[in-house]
Amino acid sequence: MSADGGAAPEGRMVPFYCPYCGDEELVPEAEPAGAWKCTACLRVFTVRLVGLASG
Ligand SMILES: [Zn+2]
Repeated sequence: MSADGGAAPEGRMVPFYCPYCGDEELVPEAEPAGAWKCTACLRVFTVRLVGLASG
């Protein structure tokens, strides 16, 4: 892994906080694709865009 700042794979959303404990220390997980690991609570999760609200 390198921090080249390239285009993220389609569908990968970057979470800023762990949705479970609120910690900010998130690191990408290789598997499953697009997953993130919270270094505080060790939960691995994915963030998926469902769509846009109609308003
Ligand atoms: Zn957490």
